[in-house]
Amino acid sequence: MSEERKFTLEPESDDNFIDEFIKQDLKEGVYDYVHTRFPPEPNGYLHIGHCKAMVIDFGTAIKYNGQCNLRMDDTNPAKEDEEYVDAIKDDIHWLGFDWEDRFYYGSDYFEEQYQYAEELIKKGLAYVCELTPEQFPEYRGDLSNPAVSPYRDRPSDESLDLFRRMRAGEFPEGKYTLRAKIDLASGNFNMRDPVLYRIRYIEHHRQGNKWCIYPMYDFAHPLQDALEGITHSLCSLEYEDHRPLYNWVIDNCDVPYRPRQIEFARLNITNTVLSKRYLRYLVENGIVDGWDDPRMPTLCGLRRRGYTPAAILDFIDRVGVSKANSMVDIGLLEHCIREDLNTKAERRIAVLQPVKVIIDNYPEDKTEYFDFPNNPTDPDSGTRPLPFTKEIYIDADDFAEVPPPKYHRLKPGGEVRLMNSYIIKCVGFDKNPDGTIAAIHATADLETGTSVPTDRKVRGTVHWLSADYAAETNVILYDRLFTEENMNDLPEGKSYVDFLNLESAAALSSVKVEASLKDAEPGDKFQFVRIGYFTKDTKTPDTFNRIVTLKDSFPKK
Ligand code: ATP
Ligand code: MG
Repeated sequence: MSEERKFTLEPESDDNFIDEFIKQDLKEGVYDYVHTRFPPEPNGYLHIGHCKAMVIDFGTAIKYNGQCNLRMDDTNPAKEDEEYVDAIKDDIHWLGFDWEDRFYYGSDYFEEQYQYAEELIKKGLAYVCELTPEQFPEYRGDLSNPAVSPYRDRPSDESLDLFRRMRAGEFPEGKYTLRAKIDLASGNFNMRDPVLYRIRYIEHHRQGNKWCIYPMYDFAHPLQDALEGITHSLCSLEYEDHRPLYNWVIDNCDVPYRPRQIEFARLNITNTVLSKRYLRYLVENGIVDGWDDPRMPTLCGLRRRGYTPAAILDFIDRVGVSKANSMVDIGLLEHCIREDLNTKAERRIAVLQPVKVIIDNYPEDKTEYFDFPNNPTDPDSGTRPLPFTKEIYIDADDFAEVPPPKYHRLKPGGEVRLMNSYIIKCVGFDKNPDGTIAAIHATADLETGTSVPTDRKVRGTVHWLSADYAAETNVILYDRLFTEENMNDLPEGKSYVDFLNLESAAALSSVKVEASLKDAEPGDKFQFVRIGYFTKDTKTPDTFNRIVTLKDSFPKK
């Protein structure tokens, strides 16, 4: 991702609305470079929503030959956890982005932020307030009434003294706050003398007990951006109403740089929740098998599921950057991984629900080989021989004792082509005491095989494996984690856990596969012919995860 791009200030076809703002700024000389940042809060693992933010933050920097910082937003002492920091870094690198030597923690700026707060007090732009947390709502006012703040005229030197004593730990939590003096009548409630600092006796994961007052996000974030020389602070839409406060902080503190905040729409995906709080709940309550459960929309989950960075970036690219919130069909994400793996993944044969077929007219002790293409989209990928013997497996789905109309797979008295091999005819079957099929009997047309005579019309082709040579493995058929499309707008009284898809991880044992799959490495990806894309799991031995089925409702590129 480090290759330099040539950019022009003229409109380009791949420009989004953020580009328009940036080009305008560069043209007008507001900035002469582009410096962005990606500010994850280390209170969970990154999810695919963050990918959109990363593509915008890192991608914009790349586009303008600028730089993008990685900043752990650990301002709030209550929630952060060091465990997540390394995982976040790994995930960003996996996706292909790099912050080089610009890695920061929001908490590294606590001292500077404190000094800016003192500056505001001295300028008469901030004051220490004594409203208790319980009183705040009643003094907030409403759309027709301004807020009331009995302490806003406290003299500066008195506020300064109290603020210093707040820092020194002289007061209990909730006794005092530091508030900006802005506009109690503002239609934007964020501007009604917002709290800048509150007292919290909580140990910070990096600062320890050094602090017992902590800045609020709306005060901390613009200062962090300004101190790092960020030009464009790109964030999601929920911060739009906070932008006036962001600008107020920048305008009233004597900061070295003047960043500009631009908001974009968050990514929402059908049948998916993208809130760390919800995702953490699933993990902590054992509803999923950790943050990297292959059904999770986290980057580590998608990676374990078998998603590639290329497919995820293609998806984000197709979703595009817009200002309007929208819901993206999860089918598009599935389409992107199919498109990527179609060209990259080698084909293998797997029989998920094996049923034995005995070729009555085939010699007992004979083995012959038929060639299978490794990847039909790549003529250079070659072929591999698969052994054929008297007893083979086909999938239970490919045989119907009582076939529905237009059934072109194997049925009593019917013919089917064995993939790249003989045409066989079903001549009978044996049943187990419980009524299930024990074995199907067939005869092979030994005149067919590699080349099929042109006068032979057989509609169906099924895949197969020699019973003598096939290996066995486990497969987990993963599916969407939630049954409801719009998880952001659930019916009254329902919680997202009410919509968990109970069939989202169907485990199959005794799946028959080509023997060579026994040597697959964790993370290797294959197309199981006629079934879907699968990857060898990185955690559970001898298990293949279904990445996605082959059925696709989106048109090909
Ligand atoms: P969550 O609700 O998942 O905790 P968050 O916004 O609190 O989301 P942060 O770690 O604070 O998560 O986010 C880091 C950056 O990623 C922010 O700039 C945020 O706007 C962006 N981001 C988070 N979720 C999405 C999303 N679904 N779509 C686009 N950007 C997102
Ligand atoms: Mg957050």
